[in-house]
Amino acid sequence: MRSNEFDNLILGLAEFVRRDGRYPYPELLRHALNKLALELTAVTYPRTLTGLLALLEKPVKTWYPGRLVPKEFDSDFGLLYEGVLSEEASRYLYEELLEKTKLSEFATTLTKQIAIENFQFQRILERLQELYNNDSEPERVQQEYVLLRLFLIENPYTTPAQLRKAFSTTRHISIQEVGELYDECEENEPCWNCDRCGPLFKKYGKLRGIKPSACNAHRQNLPFIRQITWKQGLRRLKFGIHLRICLPGIPEMRLFKALEEFQSKYSDELCAINLYPGIDRYDLQLRFCDQSTWAVDIKDYRSPYNLAPKLTPLFGEGDLRYDESFYVIPIQRLQQREDYIEILREQATKLPSSTHLLSDAVFEERVIHKIEQLREEK
Ligand SMILES: [Zn+2]
Repeated sequence: MRSNEFDNLILGLAEFVRRDGRYPYPELLRHALNKLALELTAVTYPRTLTGLLALLEKPVKTWYPGRLVPKEFDSDFGLLYEGVLSEEASRYLYEELLEKTKLSEFATTLTKQIAIENFQFQRILERLQELYNNDSEPERVQQEYVLLRLFLIENPYTTPAQLRKAFSTTRHISIQEVGELYDECEENEPCWNCDRCGPLFKKYGKLRGIKPSACNAHRQNLPFIRQITWKQGLRRLKFGIHLRICLPGIPEMRLFKALEEFQSKYSDELCAINLYPGIDRYDLQLRFCDQSTWAVDIKDYRSPYNLAPKLTPLFGEGDLRYDESFYVIPIQRLQQREDYIEILREQATKLPSSTHLLSDAVFEERVIHKIEQLREEK
C-alpha cells in the first residue's frame, strides 16, 4: 500500500465528497488531517471546518509541505474546487492512485468502490486485448472495441434502448457491461451536457464541468450547452469513465475528423486512418500511399512537467510498425504556456528524439505537407 500521507488525504477527500460532506467524516480523512496538522509549517492549521475547506481550495504549493507533494501532482492546483475534488486531484486519484494500487490494498469500502468502478473499463480492455492476440478474427475484436470507445465518447448520456441498438450484435461486448459504465440518473434530475467537456453538474446554482482549466464557460444559454430531458432509464457516464475515456476522447475525435476530411479529398495519398489500432496501443495510425505509416498519440495535460513522465516510445510491433511517431498536444495548451514543447522535450527522458512533439495544428500541417509531396512525386 502506498502509505503516503498526501495520497491518504486525497483518498479521504474523495470519500468526503462522495458522501456530500455529510457527518461523520471518513476515518481516512480524519487520520490524514491529524497528520497534516502536525506537518503544516507554512500556514497555521485552520480552527473551523469552513477554514479548512477554504485552505484545501488554495494551490497546494502555497500551504502543503513541498517535500511531501508527489512529483506527479501539479501543485498549482488546490485539492478541492468549489466543494468537490479539483480537476488535478481527480486526475491524480484516477490516473496515479487507482491505476497503480492493487484493489486489495484499498483500506476502506468506499475507496474500493471507487477503484472497482475504475477497473470496469480496464477489465473490458484487457479481455479484448487478449482476444485480439489469440482470436481467429482480430479485425472483428478491433471493430467492436472502436465501437465501444466511440460510443462512450459520443454518448455521455444514454438509454437502455440506445444501448440495445448499438450492442445487440457485438460478439465480444455485452449490453449489460456497457450499461455498467453508466449511473442511472434520478427521476426528474436536471441533466446537462457540454459538447466540449461532457456531463455537467450543478454546484451552488451554477453548472460546472469536470475540467475547469480547459472548459469553464457553462452558462445555460451558450450554444454548446444542452439540457438532456429526463426519461425512464436515462444513464450518465460514471465519473471515472468520463474522466479517462470521454474527456480525452474529445480532442482525439477532433483530430480524427480533421484527418478524415483530408482523406476524403486525397484518398490516393492518405490511404487509411485507423482509430485506436491494436486495441488502443495508441490513438491514430495513418497509412500513406508510399507505404509509410505514422503513429499518433494525443495528450491533453495542462502542465508539461506532469505529462513528460508519461511519454514513452509508442508500441511498434507487427501491424503497428511505424516510420514516424508523434505525440500531439491540443494547441490551447501551448497558447497557455509558450515554452510547453521545450519543457516537454527536456523532461521526457524516456522518449527517443525521433518521436515528434507538436501541436494538433502543426500536426495537421505536416499531414498536408506530406500529401502535397506525394502528389508532386506522381
Ligand atoms: Zn465544458
